[in-house]
Amino acid sequence: MLKFNDLRLKPQILTNLEKVGYTTPTPIQGESIPSLLEGKDLLGIAQTGTGKTAAFTLPMLERLSPRDFSLTPGQPRALILAPTRELASQIKESLDKYGEGLKLKYAVIFGGVGQASQVSALRNGLDILVATPGRLLDLMNQGHCKLSSVEIFVLDEADRMLDMGFIHDIKKVIAVLPEKKQTLLFSATMPKEVVSIANRILKNPIRVEVTPPSTTVERINQKIIFCQKAHKYQLLRKLLQEENVELTLVFTRTKHGANKIVDYLNAHQIKCAAIHGNKSQNAREAALENFKSGTIKVLVATDIAARGIDVQGVSHVMNFDLPVDAESYVHRIGRTARAGKDGDAISFCDETERDALARIQKLIGLKLPTDTFVGVAEKSVKDTRPARPYRDPRAKPKAPQAPQKEEKNKVGFKFRNKR
Ligand code: AMP
Repeated sequence: MLKFNDLRLKPQILTNLEKVGYTTPTPIQGESIPSLLEGKDLLGIAQTGTGKTAAFTLPMLERLSPRDFSLTPGQPRALILAPTRELASQIKESLDKYGEGLKLKYAVIFGGVGQASQVSALRNGLDILVATPGRLLDLMNQGHCKLSSVEIFVLDEADRMLDMGFIHDIKKVIAVLPEKKQTLLFSATMPKEVVSIANRILKNPIRVEVTPPSTTVERINQKIIFCQKAHKYQLLRKLLQEENVELTLVFTRTKHGANKIVDYLNAHQIKCAAIHGNKSQNAREAALENFKSGTIKVLVATDIAARGIDVQGVSHVMNFDLPVDAESYVHRIGRTARAGKDGDAISFCDETERDALARIQKLIGLKLPTDTFVGVAEKSVKDTRPARPYRDPRAKPKAPQAPQKEEKNKVGFKFRNKR
């Protein structure tokens, strides 16, 4: 089996990897690093969790060190573009760990915080700049950053960048990069806009495709619970109180929905916080830190904010609503069962979400086990929808109804129509 020692990396980098406990390269690392060390371009079809960050940062650190000249202020030698502040920060943390002692300079810049310290980091000179597109362009327009010295360019999570509306920003960045450089593009999926950008910026790239380790998904115990929309709050509370939860990540489609859940759970003495795009950077970092340290056991997140979040020990993912886009389901549940552990993914599905469920099952090629929850709309939730008794929309209206036996499931509250 390939070991890091077999790759041509500096002793200092190998020592750093030993310190963080990596011995064996992940498949994407094993396949990419040798070609990247030779300076080749790369198209990486991979998502978070595959080890892609080390796949691109390790050869970058190797190629940029040692540096025997002084840096030009405001002109980084390598640029890594990432879609979210969280992902950008995590990449910078990885550089700090993998590149410790190399005497290279790294910094991260993103919006939502003051720019003074970012400007001063640029002015002092940088080997590697990690950036989100908006703030990078902003600082470029103000004359604080020039990309004419970039030798290595990484576009990370290209599909998410496009989902988040960064296409024009990316094009503007690409337009000012020097012609001669090494370029790497990573994307979990390859919609046609990503293919078109890849064709434009990559020259004879090697292509490395790693599906998220299927063993991860296999280790996730997935379940769907049918319920009425207005009953989801009660269902969530009961699961959080009665399931054997350690750390739970709750997903919602909207920022507003995330805030409502936090208000509701806090009102029921379940300490939690939300992480989404309307929160300040400080609030997002504090929420993530409290979650990582276990001070709060529940973090409520929107899909975009949760991208790149890598927290060990997430025992449960709960989908308060189902994502419209089936691939997001796979991203969401992949936040649990990390680092060889098992995990539970419980998804709530109301009458309006049957199509989304069908798309998810088609994508993952599995029919998921289901339960039905009959609850009440809780008063403290300002939901304008009147509470109606649950009616399975698939039931034929006039079909004679067999008496329904109620049974208790393992979470200790009442489900009906167990299928
Ligand atoms: P990434 O896909 O880059 O977000 O990495 C996912 C997780 O895998 C992170 O927690 C990394 O610290 C971890 N990781 C990356 N490479 C290795 C490796 N070769 N051995 C063990 N863990 C790794």
